[in-house]
Amino acid sequence: MNIVLYDTTLRDGTQRAGLSLSVEDKLKIARRLDELGIHYIEGGWPGSNPKDAEFFRRIPGTALRHAKVAAFGSTRRAGIRCADDASLQALAAADTPVVTLVGKSSVFHVERVLETTRDENLRMIAESVAFFKQLGKEVVYDAEHFFDGYAADPDYALATVAAAAESGADCVVLCDTNGGSLPRAVEECVRAVRALVRTPLGIHTHNDGGVALANALAAVAAGCVHVQGTINGYGERCGNMDLIPLIATLQLKLGYAALPSERLPQLTEVAHAVAALANLNLDPHAPYVGRHAFTHKAGLHAAAVAKVPESYQHIDPARVGNEMHVVVSELAGRSNVRLRARALGLEAGDREREVLQRLKELESRGFQFEAAEGSFEMLVRRAAPDYAPPFETVGFTVVSEKHGEQTTAQARVDLRVAGVTWHGAADGQGPVNALDRAARQALRHAHPELADLRLVDYKVRIVDEHLGTAAKPRVLIESDFGGERWTTTGCSENIIEASWQALSDSLELALVRRRERRSAGKKATSRRSHTEAAT
Ligand SMILES: [Zn+2]
Repeated sequence: MNIVLYDTTLRDGTQRAGLSLSVEDKLKIARRLDELGIHYIEGGWPGSNPKDAEFFRRIPGTALRHAKVAAFGSTRRAGIRCADDASLQALAAADTPVVTLVGKSSVFHVERVLETTRDENLRMIAESVAFFKQLGKEVVYDAEHFFDGYAADPDYALATVAAAAESGADCVVLCDTNGGSLPRAVEECVRAVRALVRTPLGIHTHNDGGVALANALAAVAAGCVHVQGTINGYGERCGNMDLIPLIATLQLKLGYAALPSERLPQLTEVAHAVAALANLNLDPHAPYVGRHAFTHKAGLHAAAVAKVPESYQHIDPARVGNEMHVVVSELAGRSNVRLRARALGLEAGDREREVLQRLKELESRGFQFEAAEGSFEMLVRRAAPDYAPPFETVGFTVVSEKHGEQTTAQARVDLRVAGVTWHGAADGQGPVNALDRAARQALRHAHPELADLRLVDYKVRIVDEHLGTAAKPRVLIESDFGGERWTTTGCSENIIEASWQALSDSLELALVRRRERRSAGKKATSRRSHTEAAT
């Protein structure tokens, strides 16, 4: 059975407080969703703001290969003709193959919010749908507050969707606009509509009761063939139904076809890419695609997954493009260290005991490596007998000043590279920024590749809250190095020192990985030239 996926990240998703997308971001997301294989992309509400109108002007130029673009708007206003309704005009002017019209299903909303009559609302729905059918559009009809309307007055709610269906709507979508419905009621309701309406049915749910996904699955079980949602569940209040776990669940567990199966491994990357464009951090515990969706911590579980991965995992993470992680913590046994080192492509070998000891010692001082795989990697690497650090810290000075309204920060860093000490000095927006810039300045001749390293997140936590100001800050820094990401950590009574530990781990890791790749490249080339010479 095929399920049609309708994405409304660009319209309903942007209703989320704190989420704002530029036209450029919206075009990028549309392209990415098209590559994934989403069938419909709702671009926005052309009558509502100039940004959405510009999106519709520019989207034809992006030449989507597969997805159809939908423009969203509401049924005509009460008491006027469709041809005289400015917002229907704007919708038509968006020039999309699909128009999605939202109309009222609940008497309460008709009388109290629209302040019109039941009959006029039915005419508004029927005439607006017919208006766009005459223009040759595919029309999706969104029945707003359908489940609440049905609970209050089932006959009237059914009459509204019948009006849309009889006027030629191509799909009738039942909306749980306030997000308060429960799966059983949704299922019953969908069956009631199915008994009356032959038009394909769709479902649009919100997560206010924490069951948006369960409601969508219940609706599909009852016969809905079109599902609306957003990537990562972005949306107003508690969010829309999250398309990512919906797709994975439909496809991997229920045997429905939504995306071509070879595209499912793109889910993790798409979830992260949309989060990055929205300037939000993807919940690390998001089902299927979160960084920790397949992370094992306790020694016992980790030992089991090392032997049989499926022992504590509901699916093979590779099927959605994710991977298994093992976190290292105070609970860690040697098998955790071994597994994690192996996952990084390193062999701790004889050094396992030594790494574990050092780990436990640092954790007792307030370090935490569970979320800092970059610092863990450096710990393993430094334990190697032939490890050569790309630089060593000689010292640093940081000065932060405040004069009136203005605060400034300067840092000076001295680093030794191959026996030579280099000095770097820089201003920054804050002391950590100044430190970072000064360190790169010191390394700019020896290691120009560090220009590609970006700090994307900086977090500080107090380790022992009850100790108040004497407590130790723990710093986590997330870095991006040409698409590779890692988190490093530091912990000290001195917040600048804690930041430097995390920062220098990140700089060092970038250099060590680059060095390793270069030497692997050289070996491969020399191997190739050997074989070429032999053949
Ligand atoms: Zn909605």
